[in-house]
Amino acid sequence: MSANPRAILHDVFGFPDFRGRQAEIVEHVTAGGSGLVLMPTGGGKSLCYQVPALCRPGLGVVVSPLIALMEDQVAALRQQGVPAAALHSGLDEEERRNVQRELANGTLKLLYVSPERLALEGTADRLARRELALFAVDEAHCISAWGHNFRPEYRMLSMLAERFPEVPRVALTATADARTVDDIRERLSLTDAPVFRGSFDRPNIRIEVAPRDSAIAQIAAFMDEADDGRGAGIIYCPSRAETERTAARLRRDGYDALHYHAGMDAADRRAAEKRFSSGDPVVMAATIAFGMGIDRPDVRWVAHLALPSGPESWYQEIGRAGRDGAPARALLLYGAEDIAVARRRIAESPAADTQKRLDHERLDRLVAIVESATCRRRLLLRCFGDDLEEDCGNCDACLRPARLVDATEAARKLLSAVHRTGGRFGLGHVVDVLRGKDTEKVTSFGHDKLTVFGIGRDVAEGAWRNIARHLLARGALEMASDTNLPIYQATEAARPILRGEQPVMLQEAALREAARATRRPRSARAAPAIATGFGGQPEAAAFEALRAWRKEEATHQAVPAYVIFPDRTLADIAAQKPRTLDDLASVHGVGASKLDRYGLDVLRVLREAG
Ligand code: ADP
Ligand code: ZN
Repeated sequence: MSANPRAILHDVFGFPDFRGRQAEIVEHVTAGGSGLVLMPTGGGKSLCYQVPALCRPGLGVVVSPLIALMEDQVAALRQQGVPAAALHSGLDEEERRNVQRELANGTLKLLYVSPERLALEGTADRLARRELALFAVDEAHCISAWGHNFRPEYRMLSMLAERFPEVPRVALTATADARTVDDIRERLSLTDAPVFRGSFDRPNIRIEVAPRDSAIAQIAAFMDEADDGRGAGIIYCPSRAETERTAARLRRDGYDALHYHAGMDAADRRAAEKRFSSGDPVVMAATIAFGMGIDRPDVRWVAHLALPSGPESWYQEIGRAGRDGAPARALLLYGAEDIAVARRRIAESPAADTQKRLDHERLDRLVAIVESATCRRRLLLRCFGDDLEEDCGNCDACLRPARLVDATEAARKLLSAVHRTGGRFGLGHVVDVLRGKDTEKVTSFGHDKLTVFGIGRDVAEGAWRNIARHLLARGALEMASDTNLPIYQATEAARPILRGEQPVMLQEAALREAARATRRPRSARAAPAIATGFGGQPEAAAFEALRAWRKEEATHQAVPAYVIFPDRTLADIAAQKPRTLDDLASVHGVGASKLDRYGLDVLRVLREAG
């Protein structure tokens, strides 16, 4: 009765092998088993339910939280020749009737549905009349208040087990913390079902962390280095206003930059999403509202302008880079304010104390990673229960090992200056006092008479900021909680440092004034045609010709470019130069349906490109 998973993988999706634990999961679900799948973003969760749904008789129902995500997945499946549809509140009357007709005919193999739709009695009744292959609950952490993305409408999914006890349930998420996992299993009645935990490592993403200095210049330098002008990237910004400002700044510098946040109206948001999935090398400056539902596999880099809320959200956000497995990069910029503001926000939030403790823990784990002088990926993966046996070799700490130097003396001077000035000032003033500057503020408070006045002339201002950030990260400094001004105060944890009982070791580079990132204008970016990873000119020419053809095709069909072929497949085609349909069929990512639709076109484009 059932088709063979490997044959489906090859014929429909055009992939030679399953990845990681996919094979095991697919086999289990195809045989009718339920389970929970934990894999990082970009780990390949979709195939874990798509292949079994195609192998089993009946309809596979996929619960998904976002309309954009559903639409893109459906578009991708249709390209692969799979009869799929989506049912959600964004459909007009006619579209909805069409889907319901297909559903009644029994012609559909996969139906994506929003939890609200599924909750409607009519929908569940209609499904109950069909033979069902499985239920897949995507982004399953949305069911848990412990997760970082709780959606109350997910709660009703508890009814699936009661109402459809015979139908296998597969829950999938990239959130792996124990509480969230327990909660998902409980609520979806999966406590007796196996948990498939894939490796969380995404070794192709280079991870870099740097103190924020001149953010836009740092980001521009990073972009130019990261994507040789061909790939798309995302800049996560701490506020809506910041997304607009950042995009405008970058446009002035000649970048193709857009902004995105939840305050935009739905049509503008959708237009920005469409533009991003067009296959063009656009830069998206966005709040965290952008991302879940962005399936574009060739995002080449993700940058953060400020500290995320914890390692989980950070990893999920940078996981959007390099889903295609090709080299990708992540850069996190942060400053002392980020840590202080985050601590204060948690302290002042109306949440319950247990929740606050968890939030503080989350933040502390992240701060430990960003302040670390050793392999960041090891620390990060430990948050997901993965232990790397060796340092990763692909993070800034591994690539540019820091020389640590003893900064205890300077740290003591800074703590003394904070203390002597009464714990009532921002960092700028404290540094002025240390560096012996005669500002009006300094003289009016009589701070030029203090013993600490001018004792830190030998240390540059940027270095003082780095020392302050380190002290803040270790909790020896804090921001005053009773005011909105960024006032620094010393804490109990400062005492052992002041007494000389605890050394303060800092990266050597942090003690030199942070070198200003130099910005290259857009025109200086590498010409797209000679991109890295290509053997030579003819190959690059073929790749560009294929991309131009794909863009036209995608626009014509109004689908994201990558659902036609991802960059990676186009690059393989350009490299292998197939001359026949048979040759083309063996390229990674070329399944039977796409061979049928595009094979002759692709061969023509290749011939014409020489
Ligand atoms: P997730 O949902 O876990 O974030 P996806 O299911 O979107 O990840 O898969 C990420 C990318 O990896 C997609 O571009 C997908 O086509 C690709 N992929 C997944 N499994 C395989 C495989 N076995 N072989 C090749 N590519 C794969
Ligand atoms: Zn490393």
